[in-house]
Amino acid sequence: MKYISTRGAGLTSGEPQSFSSILLGGLAPDGGLYLPTEYPQVTADELRAWRQLSYAELAAKVLAKFAGDIPAEILADLTKRTYTAEVYRNVRPGEDAADITPLLPLGVEGDTQLSLLALSNGPTLAFKDMAMQLLGNLFEYALAQHGDALNILGATSGDTGSAAEYAMRGKEGIRVFMLSPAGKMSAFQTAQMYSLQDPNIFNLAVEGVFDDAQDIVKAVSNDHAYKARYKIGTVNSINWARVVAQVVYYFKGYFAATGGKSGQDGEVSFTVPSGNFGNVCAGHIARMMGLPIRKLVVATNENDVLDEFFRTGRYRVRKSAETFHTSSPSMDISKASNFERFLFDLLGRDATATADLLKKVEREGGFDLSGSEAFARVAKFGFVSGRSTHADRLATIQDVAKRYDVVIDTHTADGVKVAREALEPGVPMVVLETAQPAKFAETIREALHREPPRPAGFEQLESLPQRFETVPNDVERVKAYIAEHTGL
Ligand SMILES: *Cc1c(COP(=O)(O)O)cnc(C)c1O
Repeated sequence: MKYISTRGAGLTSGEPQSFSSILLGGLAPDGGLYLPTEYPQVTADELRAWRQLSYAELAAKVLAKFAGDIPAEILADLTKRTYTAEVYRNVRPGEDAADITPLLPLGVEGDTQLSLLALSNGPTLAFKDMAMQLLGNLFEYALAQHGDALNILGATSGDTGSAAEYAMRGKEGIRVFMLSPAGKMSAFQTAQMYSLQDPNIFNLAVEGVFDDAQDIVKAVSNDHAYKARYKIGTVNSINWARVVAQVVYYFKGYFAATGGKSGQDGEVSFTVPSGNFGNVCAGHIARMMGLPIRKLVVATNENDVLDEFFRTGRYRVRKSAETFHTSSPSMDISKASNFERFLFDLLGRDATATADLLKKVEREGGFDLSGSEAFARVAKFGFVSGRSTHADRLATIQDVAKRYDVVIDTHTADGVKVAREALEPGVPMVVLETAQPAKFAETIREALHREPPRPAGFEQLESLPQRFETVPNDVERVKAYIAEHTGL
């Protein structure tokens, strides 16, 4: 399996790349995103056999389709060490942590079964652990092959940064420099990151807002000499290995929703609380591989750039002032960075057309595909969408608590709200549960007038000692700090 860029490099300006050679990178050299030259297919026999596998075994099978240049036994070892009941232990009472992503049936609605696929049982209680934990082990393996080192630089407003830190802590050859806005994250999120005492994790609290932190990361990334000298890399949501890791749980969720090990194939729909389009992009890839997914339902919050596109064919990037701070903050995006991968498929995998449209986005802030042949493929790919607001979130959290005695987080609530509008009789609907309610206690209190449940071990989180460095909103000071602490 080789990789090309959505904007053409690899086809026109170089050879297609192997999985290992794009693993540590972000964007392709032409500014595009990597995709396989074609989607690997699963046969009916494989689908039947994969039903019987543990999560780790399934992950190794899926990965082998995409990472043929890494020996199968290495992949099996990496996934076995990644997807353990110990790492994904934060399950609901009565659930088996060995399932890694347990399926929680809610009830029958609209003549079909509505369920949650719990993806947030990892160390940071959000679904980003599913991919990031594997990335930690893949990176460590790849760096050891060449005796190399990597300094991961990132900016976070909460979820991504903590998932990256918990995935990379203690990893050989890797250090993490994570910028966060000083005093702007929730007490839970702050404690989650800053309580890490591992010597390879550096939390830098920037005196500014999230955009300031992100601007510093961009400025450092644009200094190519510095980047090369200090082996700076990133782990953002466009990383291809992260997307592949997320393909696995669509298979797992599909098997669970169709009767488990002794079940039979039929169609299943998925609803995905979406921001940067990484998660649902993995669903699209699973469907393109031949997994019988009927619909992929994109759920957005008030930041509805994706919902607008799927309803109208118009893609319009939002300005900062038009980007809302909502109670499902991990979906607060102005543009969806992984959308380009889907766009490439919509445009019939035409890299020139993709590059042209993205240039148009830079020039004019968007494009309009309404009425085009490309937009007609949206339905062919099974995509529909919907939008949810703060009021919807509160009502859905209340309703699910009352009807099913289950407390869901704000992002998952956006998913359930939109899923209910897309139910079809007889087609099981699986909503991806992307975070645990404990992370978003303020909104849970507003909805239910009580504290959300906290998994064991998190009771004292906010009172643990914290380790971080406060830095001014100044690129040069951050660069100097990193230079001093890379050990290079
Ligand atoms: C990151 C995140 C999302 C959005 O996922 P994308 O892959 O960016 O679409 C949704 N919910 C939670 C809790 C998240 O952390």
